[in-house]
Amino acid sequence: MTWPRVLGLVLLAGALAGCAREPAKAPADRPDLDTLVLVTLDTFRQDRLGSNGDPQTRTPNFDRFARRAACWRNAVTAIPLTTPSHATILSGLSPRGHGLIANRMRLDESVVTLPMRLRDAGWRTAAVVSARVVLGPEFGLDRGFDTYDVIEPATRPASGEGAQTTETARRLLAEHDGRPTFLWAHFFDAHLPYAPPAPWDGLYDSGYDGAYREPSLGLQRELAEGDDVDARDVAWLAAQYAGEISFLDRCFGDLLRDVDLDRAAVLVTADHGEGLYEHRRYFGHDTLLYDTALRVPFLLRTPDARGGVRSEDARTLDVAATLAGVAGLPTGGTEGRDLRRAAPRTGDDTAFVAETHPAREKAWPSYALRNGDSKLIWSPRSRTRECYDLVSDPAERHDLSGEGSDYFRILGEDLELDLRTRPTGTIRTVDDERGGPDDATLEQLKALGYAG
Ligand SMILES: [Zn+2]
Repeated sequence: MTWPRVLGLVLLAGALAGCAREPAKAPADRPDLDTLVLVTLDTFRQDRLGSNGDPQTRTPNFDRFARRAACWRNAVTAIPLTTPSHATILSGLSPRGHGLIANRMRLDESVVTLPMRLRDAGWRTAAVVSARVVLGPEFGLDRGFDTYDVIEPATRPASGEGAQTTETARRLLAEHDGRPTFLWAHFFDAHLPYAPPAPWDGLYDSGYDGAYREPSLGLQRELAEGDDVDARDVAWLAAQYAGEISFLDRCFGDLLRDVDLDRAAVLVTADHGEGLYEHRRYFGHDTLLYDTALRVPFLLRTPDARGGVRSEDARTLDVAATLAGVAGLPTGGTEGRDLRRAAPRTGDDTAFVAETHPAREKAWPSYALRNGDSKLIWSPRSRTRECYDLVSDPAERHDLSGEGSDYFRILGEDLELDLRTRPTGTIRTVDDERGGPDDATLEQLKALGYAG
């Protein structure tokens, strides 16, 4: 195994601080765009797109879109939690940069987001989101949007609410008022509990006759804790997840039906992926920093850009600068970069810290330092470390922490230094401000698997 250059964390922290203070560049020539669409697919794994190589899950609409889009295959999120991850997507700041490190925290008024900048530049800004409990307007992500629609599912557990999201998004796109339009559409369907509508519920495992036909979190818990696990139950849950992906593909096709792609730019990504029982027998994402949860799709189609697969690193942190660049705005002022114009990251620049802060009663916080070739996952409270060679072991099956590698020891020191240099701060959610969540909120959090 050959190791890349060892990281210097002072360099890493300096690069982050430097980016945040980077002066704005002069605006690029304003392209002839009338529509800019950001699609965030909650809980959508990078490897479930046909265009990213999945031979089984059917995603014909995404694949058709991808043929003329730039597709970053190595894209990662900074945090596998919905509220902070979307704050990163909209602001271009890391979780510790904007201050949201857990679900249901509120974005500080001082943070400038992409919709605020677009609106100041004369754009009409509209959002439709599909999870009030983690993306409702009370968390401040509505700032900068002229309108902020929240989809309320017709049933709980929700099934097929992506159709409502799509319908609302199409209505918002159709409501021209003379200004160019920025639309953010957030889909929540792939999130637990998996419950795709017919016929997508039987697309990948129509013969299942086990005990768990009804969507619930009970099965996930039993599979995580039980001694006598039936592989058919595990396969069925993964098949239901795949059904949600194919259902979302239909929604995406419908969403773009009336969009003139000669005058529109569309960026598709996710806030995080999903573990499907590969690690810790876990279905979910909030406690995981494996690549199943960190890697995300990242596709950008613009009228003027060349399509094709891009092998360099991308981060959800880059969304705000990239879309600002597409809209002809200055691309500075964030920790990310305009992926269309910036030089690819190399060497120390590929170092990237991700973290997660699950519900207190569920798991300890953990941190990961990842570069193109290797990764260290560290949980200070439980004093556990895992080390992976992402080249020879992309599935992160073989923990190398016991091998006494100097390289991983230094990665661990870098990660500890990063935490001391940029402390995570205090988690204070809107519920903490109110003395705890109300019963309805607690029920919804439990239903999504977020409560302990
Ligand atoms: Zn999410």
